[in-house]
Amino acid sequence: MPTIFEKLDDKKAKDIKVLGGFVSIYCRENHRTVEKSTFPIKDERLRQVLEKEKLVLCPECSKLLNHGIAKLMLCPLDPKPMCKKCQTHCYAPGYRQKVREVMRFSGSYLIKHGRLDLLIHYKF
Ligand SMILES: [Zn+2]
Repeated sequence: MPTIFEKLDDKKAKDIKVLGGFVSIYCRENHRTVEKSTFPIKDERLRQVLEKEKLVLCPECSKLLNHGIAKLMLCPLDPKPMCKKCQTHCYAPGYRQKVREVMRFSGSYLIKHGRLDLLIHYKF
């Protein structure tokens, strides 16, 4: 059965990993008291990408990550530009703002913790 993950290439896989990592830092630091569970992955290709990330998220962040991954996979622009420089604004209202907040938070978290290596592919 064809899914949006048919077109999952190395570049998109990397972007998804970064997005997942950023959402998980945000959730861990900001939603400490919310009950979390393992991020559900139905697609086998996606599972291979995120397997090592062991994402444990609250329901809200799970939804956000799902939306972000779908948007990434469906981005019609190739190569995908940095989302913050893109004119298309494909994220649904609300999600876009939330993703920016997550990226800002986790980006500065990584800088504070000396993990600039993880910021190299920062494109959201
Ligand atoms: Zn959360």
